[in-house]
Amino acid sequence: MPSSFFILVCFHRLPRIFLCCLLACTAGCATPKISALTSSEAKYGQTEEEKKLLARAKEFDQELDRKGMLLETPALVNYVRSIGQPLVPPEAAGIVDFKFKILRSPVVNAFALPNGSIYLSVGLLARLHSEAELAQVMGHEIAHVVLRHALKVYETNRSNIVAAHIADLFLFGTSIAYLPYLASVASYSREQEEEADQSGLRAIAAGGYSPNEAIQVFDRMQEVKNGEALEGSWYSSHPSNKQRVDALKEMVRTGAISQQQPKVGNTSHRDFVARIVIENIQLKLHARQYELALDAANRSLAENPKSAQFHFYKGEAYRHMADDPKGAAREHGWIYGKSFNDKLVAEFETRRSEFYQFAEDAYRQALALDSRLPMAERGWGLVNLGRGEYDAARERLTAYLAQNKNISDREYISNLLKGINK
Ligand SMILES: [Zn+2]
Repeated sequence: MPSSFFILVCFHRLPRIFLCCLLACTAGCATPKISALTSSEAKYGQTEEEKKLLARAKEFDQELDRKGMLLETPALVNYVRSIGQPLVPPEAAGIVDFKFKILRSPVVNAFALPNGSIYLSVGLLARLHSEAELAQVMGHEIAHVVLRHALKVYETNRSNIVAAHIADLFLFGTSIAYLPYLASVASYSREQEEEADQSGLRAIAAGGYSPNEAIQVFDRMQEVKNGEALEGSWYSSHPSNKQRVDALKEMVRTGAISQQQPKVGNTSHRDFVARIVIENIQLKLHARQYELALDAANRSLAENPKSAQFHFYKGEAYRHMADDPKGAAREHGWIYGKSFNDKLVAEFETRRSEFYQFAEDAYRQALALDSRLPMAERGWGLVNLGRGEYDAARERLTAYLAQNKNISDREYISNLLKGINK
């Protein structure tokens, strides 16, 4: 199943392809002291090791761009940049050109490259409830760059990284079956993660965010389902993360972190989330993650029960489960650690009519809330088609085509209609 989306490896982990390619770079070089970029001693980009790290980071940036992995909607990217840029220490901003990017991936994931590229996945962004939570994630990733953790990992671990595993991520596509394999990457040390947590929290408190609100991001991550983030990563519910969270809570409790000039909440985070959540659901559906798409729609409906759009996406998730029982079974097995076999597929096949019914109910609800939602008409028509209700399918799909002249899938739907009319 080739797919335009591939799954990146890390949260708080460097992409393996990135680390592995460094192996070939150097051997036996002297290890100078590595100062933070805020220090006048930093000498950023002057050693051979760091030059190669930076060159590799640039290639990695270009590769992601070339593969169409970046979400480039200006309003969304500008928003993320507007939160991240002020968190960069001025000394570091003078040396490194920080860039904030959104990855078109439903996997809950974020990472920073040593050249200042900070990547946040759609899957992660859609999970965050406030600007302060977003700031905490960004503060943490910025800290990895400022503290030059990638260079330190490289200096320490190069002998342990197995070059044979260069295993090109780009060849994998997004088949979820590869996730456990991809998850076994070299990572930052526990101490580095704690250092980044604390440095990030200090930066955002200094930026006026409420530390208490910001650290809720860690509770949020405990809600992430198995498989929705990478196994063992910081964003999966990993027991050893609790200690890190407790350390931050303790800093807040004892007043070691204090908030400067509280930020006045603005509505742009709400606008941002509303859009990013839709992106996330679409990416999940595309990656055959129907159950996770349904979860995401349901989470949004819990907050906004009158949203026709989220009822529509709920319908989409159920319709895909009915249309693609094999895909639904594979995803289910992946989430719940069950083996994917004929029996599991058969279970999903027997539930097809149930899923179609749930889909119909959801589309009906969407249209009741917004009668001018052509996509819900389309979805319902496809449910009719799946159930062999050809007259109803013809009527709904024809109505869908009639509602709008500029329909991107006009040809596809017209062909379906031709098939019905034969
Ligand atoms: Zn980290």
